[in-house]
Amino acid sequence: MKQIGFIGLGIMGRAMAFNAVRSGFEVTVYNRSRDKTIPFADQGIPVADTIQDLVADCEAIIVMVTGPEALSDVVHALTRTQLGNKVIINCSTVSLAATLAAGEAIVRAGGTCLDAPVSGSKIPAETAKLVFLVGGDDKTLQRCHPLLSSMGSTILHCGPLGDGTRMKLAVNLMLANTIHALSETLVFAEKIGLQRQAVANAINSGVMASPLLKIKIDAMLNRDFSPHFPLNLVFKDLNLILDEAEKNGAVLPATAAVRESFNSAMAHGLGREDIGAILQAIEQQSGLKPRS
Ligand code: NAP
Repeated sequence: MKQIGFIGLGIMGRAMAFNAVRSGFEVTVYNRSRDKTIPFADQGIPVADTIQDLVADCEAIIVMVTGPEALSDVVHALTRTQLGNKVIINCSTVSLAATLAAGEAIVRAGGTCLDAPVSGSKIPAETAKLVFLVGGDDKTLQRCHPLLSSMGSTILHCGPLGDGTRMKLAVNLMLANTIHALSETLVFAEKIGLQRQAVANAINSGVMASPLLKIKIDAMLNRDFSPHFPLNLVFKDLNLILDEAEKNGAVLPATAAVRESFNSAMAHGLGREDIGAILQAIEQQSGLKPRS
């Protein structure tokens, strides 16, 4: 498998596609708006004008778009032609229903489908350290393994189609709650008279220390909210998680409250900032002065 198509060149897709190129895959890219394809064209990487043009020469096509509606649009375009033996690998975080519907449409068009959402954000995407959470049949995954390895350090086969998406939603439930809890901790600590740096040291020295907390604490203390995992995508994922929870009888009171907190942050214009900007929303509610 050498000829690859890549659809969706946002924060994650751009870095992933460049890593596939660096590993020697022959990549053709497509993005809905043309501007994001310019860095690829500048390096002589082929840019397709339409999704149909991209499909023609590719053995595998990676899709990395915003969410369920975007995936549905892309799959609609992909399945206008017969897909032959091509593999479509959806790496976007979407609903389980969207994953299964995409799989059905792709199989109807003669192709094969993996769901392979990723754990890890902008920097793991840039450094090819993503964790792929894969659903689909083992034979297809083995065919795609070298390609996924060019963009990630760990490939976990979670089960049949849909299980990658299930796993991703479960992991992101914990991610959103963790960053929210970290933000509340920093605000609470300041309100009771502690220095934030001292709290950071205590967290990073104890049993709760983790790579995620270290990165996010550093960014929050430096007031760096530039988007790695934008807050509006976290809100999208919380909605997907709570929809799935309701369908399956899982009661998630803390996650529901966290969703509302992210909703409020979006209403205050923080949607395009990083997930860590939830700190700003909680600071505001607690009457802490805005900082630069
Ligand atoms: P992003 O920067 O917002 O990029 C989204 C991409 O989707 C853009 O290329 C956009 O095209 C495309 N798109 C949106 N709607 C479309 C449509 N209807 N048809 C075709 N293309 C469409 O998002 P991202 O951060 O790269 O995230 C991509 C996916 O990975 C999301 O599902 C996200 O939840 C997941 N994810 C993100 C992170 C992270 O840290 N950022 C981590 C893990 C997983 P335009 O340029 O034309 O708008």
